[in-house]
Amino acid sequence: MPSEPLVAEHALEFPGGYTRTTGPVIGRFLTELREGRIVGVRTAEGRVLVPPLEYDPDTGEPVTGEFVEVGPAGTVTGWAWVASPRKDHPLDRPFAWALIKLDGADTALVHAVAADSVKAMRPGMRVRPRFRGERVGHITDIACFVPEVTTMRAPIRTEYRVQPGRSLSRFLEGIRDGVFLGGRCTRCDKVYVPFRTSCPSCGSAISEEVEVPDTGTVTTFAINNLPDPRAPEVPFVSAYILLDGTDVPMIALVGGVPAHEVRQGMRVKAVWVSPEERTLSMANVRWFAPTGEPDAELGGPHA
Ligand SMILES: [Zn+2]
Repeated sequence: MPSEPLVAEHALEFPGGYTRTTGPVIGRFLTELREGRIVGVRTAEGRVLVPPLEYDPDTGEPVTGEFVEVGPAGTVTGWAWVASPRKDHPLDRPFAWALIKLDGADTALVHAVAADSVKAMRPGMRVRPRFRGERVGHITDIACFVPEVTTMRAPIRTEYRVQPGRSLSRFLEGIRDGVFLGGRCTRCDKVYVPFRTSCPSCGSAISEEVEVPDTGTVTTFAINNLPDPRAPEVPFVSAYILLDGTDVPMIALVGGVPAHEVRQGMRVKAVWVSPEERTLSMANVRWFAPTGEPDAELGGPHA
């Protein structure tokens, strides 16, 4: 008849605590912790070990005995998430055991990071220690590390009024009346829309006003996948459109055509809001829609 396996429960415990001496290096570290400071020790090669050790782990040489204050803030280099803390863990809610490289240190120390969730943990995360009010010279004098404040939310609202200059005012008057007004440089015979008062090519003052057609050619365009209150739908197309008879393209929306069908050279015409709706605003032009004409050649001067 098989016998039950024999089991005996044992516990090894030093109820009063196990006292050990710290030595001069760890002792200095713990003494500084009690004062609310974190120090490392410099090795013969100049590296700063935190927590300090008596021997350089790379070379086996004794350290220099020069103590350097570090941190207190540092950077998380790695972590393990503790979803279910145990009785003796430093925090009674989920936290991370993290490797933290304190500013000025060359090695990382392990400590608890109180993060809201595992999703809040990331390499390079900045943390700083939360010291206990009452300190005894033990690593637990640092209750835990907490994330530094790196972002804030602030409500933003700006109100402003734009006062268009004389040339833009004149251009918008044209738009209100359903026409595009351009300025012609009499010296280099170039036409600019919107209207402007000096020629960007030669610097001459522009005084001649010309009415240009509301038809043109798409020179370049971008397909936008983020909604815009002015756009008909998503995705929508914004394009540089060279109005017929002008020398610089203007930016506008393209509508009335699927975004993927828009192309360079496509012929388009302005779609205006009804005359009753018009104001002194570019909103009078809803967008440019294809005319159905054959594509235009790009690159040449205006006809
Ligand atoms: Zn000019």
